[in-house]
Formats: sequence, C-alpha cells, structure tokens
Amino acid sequence: MTRPLDETHDASARSWVTSANRPGTDFPLQNLPLGVFCRRGSGNIGRIGVAIGDEILDLCALAEADALGGIGPEVAGALRAATLNELMALGRPGARAVRRAAFALLREGSAVRSHAAGHLVPAVEAECLLPASVGDYTDFYASIHHATNVGRMFRPDNPLLPNYKWVPIGYHGRASSVIASGTGVLRPIGQTKEDAAPAPAVGPSRSLDYECEVGAWVGKGNLLGSTVPIAEARDHLFGLCLVNDWSARDLQRWEYQPLGPFLAKNFGTTVSPWVVTQDALEPFRVPRSPRPEGDPEPLPYLDGREDRVSGGYGITLEVYLRSAVMRDGGLAPMRLTSAGFGDMYWTMAQLLTHHAGNGCNLRPGDLLASGTVSGAEKSERGCLLELTARGTEPLTLPTGESRRFLEDGDEVILRGRCEREGFAGIGFGECRGIVLPAQMLPG
Ligand code: CA
Repeated sequence: MTRPLDETHDASARSWVTSANRPGTDFPLQNLPLGVFCRRGSGNIGRIGVAIGDEILDLCALAEADALGGIGPEVAGALRAATLNELMALGRPGARAVRRAAFALLREGSAVRSHAAGHLVPAVEAECLLPASVGDYTDFYASIHHATNVGRMFRPDNPLLPNYKWVPIGYHGRASSVIASGTGVLRPIGQTKEDAAPAPAVGPSRSLDYECEVGAWVGKGNLLGSTVPIAEARDHLFGLCLVNDWSARDLQRWEYQPLGPFLAKNFGTTVSPWVVTQDALEPFRVPRSPRPEGDPEPLPYLDGREDRVSGGYGITLEVYLRSAVMRDGGLAPMRLTSAGFGDMYWTMAQLLTHHAGNGCNLRPGDLLASGTVSGAEKSERGCLLELTARGTEPLTLPTGESRRFLEDGDEVILRGRCEREGFAGIGFGECRGIVLPAQMLPG
C-alpha cells in the first residue's frame, strides 16, 4: 500500500529553528502540530500557531500579513480565527496546506525565512488554550485490556459484557468542562455510599483517578441523517491529542447504574494543547490490532481493507505523577506506566464510523476520546483503579509517600510519542493537571 508521504516527512529535513533539530524533541520540522495560544499577559485572545522546537510560530499573524505561500484565501481566513474550528471544517486538505506552507517557511535554507521575523514566540512566554471550541465530547472504551481489568473487579467470572466485541462502547461526555492542559482540577464533591452504610453521604471524592487516553478532533463534519463510511473516516479525523479523563471512582460506583457515567466524570477533562495532524501521523500508522482466535470479526460497516492495514497509530503513551512533596523537593515526576496505543480493540476510524452510524451528526471541533489505554501487563495500566487494583495494591513514590488514588497537590502528566525507523520521531507535548482541594460551594 502506498502511503501519502511527501517531502514534509523527510527525516533528513532540518529547521533553522535550532531547538527543532534537538534529538528527542516532540516538535521537529516533521511534526508541525496546530494549536491556539496567547502571549502571557496579553489577555486571553487566542491565536492559531504551530509548535516548532521550543517556539511557536504565529500562523495568525502570518495569515494576516499574507505571508504563507500557497494556502489560498479560505485557509488564510480560517487561520485568522481564535480557534481551529474553521480550519477543522475544511478537513484534511486545509491542514495539509498549512503543513506544507509552515514546512517551507521553517526548513533550513528556506527562501522565505524572513517572513517569520517577529512571529516566533518562545513557548515559555506563551499560554496554550483549548485548540477548538468543543461542541460535543464523546468518550469510548476501546481498550479490551482496560475493559477486562475493570470488568473483572465487578464480575470476576465474566469480565467482558456480551456486547463488547461487537459494538464500540461509548457515552456522551460533557463538552463544557473540557479544559486546557495546565488548568487545575478541583476535587469533586458528590454522593458516595459505602456498602454497609444505610444511606449515601455527600463529600469530597476519596477515590480521584486519572485516565490516560488519546483524543481525536473531528475535522470535516457530517450532516444529521448521513453516515461516514469507514473508508472515509480518516478524512473526518483532523488530528489527535492526549486526554486525561479525570474520574471520581467512589461517585462513579454509586451513580453509574443504569445510565453510565455522570458527575463522576464531568468535572474536568484535560486535553493536550497541540493537535498532531493526520498527515504528521501518517508514517506511524500500524495495522489494526488482530483479534484473538475465536473473536468475531467486526460487522461489515466497521470493517475495511484500509482500516485493517493501517487503522492503528503507533503511539507510546506514558503517565507521570508528581506529588506536592516531590515538587517542593525538586524531584522529577515519577513514571507510573507506559502503554502502546497500537493494540486497541477498536480503531479511531471504527469509533467515528460507529458514532455516525445512526445518522448522528459530528461537527468540526467535536472531541472523541478512546477510553483508558491499557495493555496486558501491570506496567501498562492506564489508570489507578487498575494499577492499584482498586486501591488494594498502593504505589510508593520516591518520597516514601503512598498512593491508592490521587491526593490534593498531585500533578498528573501524560506524554505520547511516535517512533519509526527511517522517520523523525514526533511527540504530543504534555497533558498536565494538578489536583486542587475540594471547595464547598455556598448554598
Ligand atoms: Ca474514560
């Protein structure tokens, strides 16, 4: 199969932004992820930019100055907006035009390098905002390892429900509480009930957890009543990010039946600021994870040659934790787990096609999250519920502190990287959040 690779994937290409050539950087010339930022102290008016090494190139300013070659008026107009929604609506061709223009500007020896003068902002002087105005947010459950580990806690003999291998399980989340990386997360207050207690109590969650997930930003939408064939799904997937689906397990346990997650999950969902585009990810497509012998094949509308051959993404995800004591002592965050996104049971294309399969309209800037990404091993479990076995096997931090679930002041950092022989490795940047103490609200 010929993949649509072009000169922007050339591993030997270097940038005149020297930090972009540093080995191991998340943002080399071959990545060029899109996001929205503002200069610190300049108010919260977002500007679209692209990350390059330790800098951000202000695409909004370049579009205003008509200094991005070959993008056309429609894309230039979209780049002057305060969110990526308009560019997302233009689908993959719009993102590709921006990628090519940024690549031409930023590569070593560029004849148009002077256009960037005054439009590079050190990332440390910028604040990253949400990349898009999120109309709807849907969370899935696409890791069979996560579904099995969690299911086993409640149904030891029958961990997976009978629908799991046939239908991508998901629920509609809350868009209004999707927040940018770096935003503090208040410990939620809610109802919990101990098994032996006669009635529930209201108070701060005592089982606050993270969930390490991959998010897909919807680009081109589909009209209400129309569907998205799986062969076209990747044209609707604008790009990927990292997602921390903060979860209050004690609230969840009491409220989740019969309609699923509600207040246990809608108090904050953190996303990484940079959208890694489909074109940047193209070299890192991997075959869809083969199903174990005896499992059903996906139903025809969820199956296709392209999805089988290259429906997965070879992303390695990592979860780090740093307590307040570690931070005060200058200790680096501790890596808790690492898992591969390549062996999910359902691909992003399957999730999107299934979502639109009843005619549900997806819109530019909608966010689809994969569900907790876990692997078969203990070191690959993407949330504390699994990693500490519901708190029965606590973790020990370098300070000697113990963790069953998150404490106030704990900082959770998600990272993701793609590596492949012959290609420049790319990363997602960080998805970061600190747990803040619960606040009893008046009334
Ligand atoms: Ca989740």
